[in-house]
Amino acid sequence: MRKTYVIGNWKMNGNKAANKALLDGLKAGVPAAKAGVAIAVCPPFAYLESVIAETAGSVIGVGAQDVSEYDKGAYTGEVSVSMLKDVGVTYAVIGHSERRALFGETDEWVGKKTAAALAGGLVPVVCVGETEAERVGNQTEAVLAKQLDAMLAAVPNAAPGSIVIAYEPVWAIGTGKTATPEMAQETHAFIRNYIKKAGDAFAAETAILYGGSVKASNALGLFAMPDIDGGLVGGASLIVEEFVGVYNGAA
Ligand code: 13P
Repeated sequence: MRKTYVIGNWKMNGNKAANKALLDGLKAGVPAAKAGVAIAVCPPFAYLESVIAETAGSVIGVGAQDVSEYDKGAYTGEVSVSMLKDVGVTYAVIGHSERRALFGETDEWVGKKTAAALAGGLVPVVCVGETEAERVGNQTEAVLAKQLDAMLAAVPNAAPGSIVIAYEPVWAIGTGKTATPEMAQETHAFIRNYIKKAGDAFAAETAILYGGSVKASNALGLFAMPDIDGGLVGGASLIVEEFVGVYNGAA
């Protein structure tokens, strides 16, 4: 049985006081884990250690929002897998559409980061998704295939369940426009079928999260779909009641 994940991507938001208030609320709202459902937050790098300290002993895991493909050396501004492991990070979001669109990350680069994360023992949460123009132009499946091929080529021996995929249609991120559960399910089913090229077990065990304007009121409908295995949540993960509500929608 594959796992379900509810992961909050804080993006470039927060400060020490706000993070503590949010985490106190989450710890109270999610005092115990549901079987098979993991919950995690991904704060900015600057706050990883303090968030790890504040979530110690709770059910809340911690992830980074990016990671370098290099291990160490003259790479100003980069943070390596071994550094994240050293401070107790579990997950790394890789290839978020904002990094692809604003910071020039390519499919191949995303593949290298995924390989580094996997080799170093982090759980990569690899983001894929099409823009509005690509969806309107009937390019969704071609875009996803290209993104998935680059990722799979970089990790040919990935064990089933070792990688999490997040399908985030770019047009649904931060816009309040969510894909309907049926529309998301159709794309998730495409992704699951496509990654069978890495093996039936790999496809069956890979959690495919949905991301894009997920909130408490729409989580249940999305997560009820057979190929939607949780969510990668942006804005709503900064609000205690919303994120707890999303978690409560997961089973
Ligand atoms: P929103 O939930 O704010 O739309 O963001 C989604 C996202 O990009 C999560 O990584």
